[in-house]
Amino acid sequence: MIYNYSIIFYIFISFLFPAQEIECLNCSDQNTFSVLVITETKGYVHRSAIKAGIELIKIIGTDNNFNVFHSSNSNVITAKNLKNINTIIFLNTTSDILNITEQKTMEEFISKGRGFVGIHSAADTEYKWSWYGELVGAYFKSHPPGTSFATINTINTSHISTKHLESTWEIRDEWYNYYNINSNITVLLNLDETTYFGGKHGKNHPITWFHEYKGGKSFYTGLGHLAKTYSDERFIKLLTGGILYVSLPEYDE
Ligand SMILES: [Zn+2]
Repeated sequence: MIYNYSIIFYIFISFLFPAQEIECLNCSDQNTFSVLVITETKGYVHRSAIKAGIELIKIIGTDNNFNVFHSSNSNVITAKNLKNINTIIFLNTTSDILNITEQKTMEEFISKGRGFVGIHSAADTEYKWSWYGELVGAYFKSHPPGTSFATINTINTSHISTKHLESTWEIRDEWYNYYNINSNITVLLNLDETTYFGGKHGKNHPITWFHEYKGGKSFYTGLGHLAKTYSDERFIKLLTGGILYVSLPEYDE
């Protein structure tokens, strides 16, 4: 009878805590490190951009010799799954997606010197967890309706993510305003608010940045609302550089 109870208990536990598996999109023996892409949403869903983003990161991984794991459920953020992961990427996540255990696991992950990359609405995520807001570097506050072209000023061209960029360039996106901007960030790209309607920061409107945080490294870009952006060569190199910077020590500033 005890044996039977054990089986029932096991089934009950399995039901409560389903297997937290991460899917590898491009694993190969040639690859030298691994990233985990999280795309869970509890708010707005950037459906086409998420799809394009997963596809792009998989290609960037294959081209740069790293494994790309993916899950649309943040319950994969466990110590076991993160053991061989160098960087967690929040690709257009929204709202409150992590429970307290997952938050603790992520804090430990960063404290071990690992990396984080946030894309667009990664800043529209986990508002009540201030550790996360500081990790991303800011929280989303508002955006003017729709998308529009705007001019971006590249204010730092020595970073691996921005070396390829012109000093001014134009791209269409949904332009975020932010709050609680972490004073430790190094701004790479600044939005020229005179070139679109609805900016709230004035002359200094950061839209892409990086910083070291609690032992780890973080890179964030506000670009990435539109699926089209993920096939723009300038963005592809920006994101590639961001991932390499946070994942590998040789790109430390
Ligand atoms: Zn958006």
